[in-house]
Amino acid sequence: MELGSYSEDQLDQLIVRAESEVGAWRVVEMAAIAEKRRRRSHLADGYRSIVDWTAARADVSHETARRLCWTATRLREAPGVAEQLAAGDISFDRAQLLARLPAEDRDGHQGYDIFGLRRLVANHRRLTRKRERKTGNGYLHLTSGSDDLMVPIWGAFPGLDARMVEKALDQRADEIIPSNQRLAVAERRALAFVAICQDDLYQTGSAETALTDVAVIVDADTAAESGGETGVSVLAGPRLGPGVLEEIICNGNVDLIGFTEKGKPLDLGRRSRTVGRKLRRHVVHRDGGCTVDGCPFSYRLQVHHVIPWSHGGKTDADNLITLCWFHHHVSVHREGLQIIRLGVSRVRLKRPR
Ligand SMILES: [Zn+2]
Ligand SMILES: [Zn+2]
Repeated sequence: MELGSYSEDQLDQLIVRAESEVGAWRVVEMAAIAEKRRRRSHLADGYRSIVDWTAARADVSHETARRLCWTATRLREAPGVAEQLAAGDISFDRAQLLARLPAEDRDGHQGYDIFGLRRLVANHRRLTRKRERKTGNGYLHLTSGSDDLMVPIWGAFPGLDARMVEKALDQRADEIIPSNQRLAVAERRALAFVAICQDDLYQTGSAETALTDVAVIVDADTAAESGGETGVSVLAGPRLGPGVLEEIICNGNVDLIGFTEKGKPLDLGRRSRTVGRKLRRHVVHRDGGCTVDGCPFSYRLQVHHVIPWSHGGKTDADNLITLCWFHHHVSVHREGLQIIRLGVSRVRLKRPR
């Protein structure tokens, strides 16, 4: 499409017309989705829900699919809005919001832009006893199955619960993060959240069985070639970097499953690479606390391989030192600080150039 010769007016009209035609087609699409749902034929296709079906067949994100399915239902109760959308009088976004307003409040909607309309809709959502009960537990989503190194979590808690969560996170952050670490509040809370979860997993099982629900898959050939930068992932989950892999080996609390290129399981030597309980106790006793120069923390001590396994480091007392949770989990494995050994039980951390 060559638009170089179009005037400004023609361009503007084109955009508006295209949007209204998209809206008209949305009505058709949503009617078909509603009918599909009524027949429950998506279940026969093996999909759990109409949203899953729509996402797969229409090749759209789950967010878009959810919006379509949800609006499809709402529009059946708001035929006037569907008509306006089909006629190209309003956009899909506006129709979506109007469908959520009580019919008597829809007049005069043209006086609001989409942002204003959204606020109006929010104000109409009264906090009824029913809704309070419905959302009373709050919710917490962890996205899964993505290839990203970072997994987003989002959710909402009832006000009182939220304050409690906040207080617990901040308290735990104070316990585990040395005061000289300048971290944003959000970063401190993320670390505290993980620490609390780890504690819980350790308490509910022995150290040997804890966390074994989390299995990490290592494609041995790929991982060896890239020094662990590729080929490592949580079973049916996100990818992991080399730092995390080494931390897993230090802690020995996650099932490590290796595969060769031919897909054959490979024994990665959980026993030889990970630190046994006896050896762990010996090292912690020898060091008497975190070995980082000047660190007073003796809480949640962990044992670390000074020379990592990927560089041929051995799992024996000489190659192991004790670190507090923060220095191990954050400084060494996440931030990649180098260890300079000043003595058997005294080290200094240095940022690599
Ligand atoms: Zn380590
Ligand atoms: Zn420390």
